[in-house]
Amino acid sequence: MNTTLEPKHKVKFLPIPKLEQYQIDSFWEKVDIKSQDECWNWKKSLDSWGYGHVGFWDKLYKTNRVAWYLVNGDIPDGMVICHRCDNPKCCNPNHLFLGTFKDNTRDCVRKGRLPSRHGELNNSAKLTNELARQIKTEYEASERGHRYFAKKYNVSPSCILRLCSGISFKNL
Ligand SMILES: [Zn+2]
Repeated sequence: MNTTLEPKHKVKFLPIPKLEQYQIDSFWEKVDIKSQDECWNWKKSLDSWGYGHVGFWDKLYKTNRVAWYLVNGDIPDGMVICHRCDNPKCCNPNHLFLGTFKDNTRDCVRKGRLPSRHGELNNSAKLTNELARQIKTEYEASERGHRYFAKKYNVSPSCILRLCSGISFKNL
């Protein structure tokens, strides 16, 4: 018997609407922003799973999804935002990554998607050490943001963020 999740178990998340600047500002004001390596906890209401919730107009959204969205753009349909820190109320974009709906936080961690200290040995690495080093050097010398490099090197913006913030490829 197929034990994977059937479609009826799929969680349908509302796409995050285009937000006004004041909503974005008020969102980040409710996040306990720390250094880029630490968890940024949501300071307001949590659901029974420990996830932060935020209301825009008359709808509620999970704060990890909002945080990821504000940094990376639209969340592909059916995808979930996982925490590599296993802390549901964390909104640090460096701790968030895109997963499939079957992944829950613990799964994501167990599946070895935790950023590795070994760069390309990690199975989520799409870049070779050599290329990663090149991108990092270019990024640091450039005014351009992570989205530009994501396009240029055909990897996800979060991949560039992880690389350039030192979360992945710590060996460089
Ligand atoms: Zn965290």
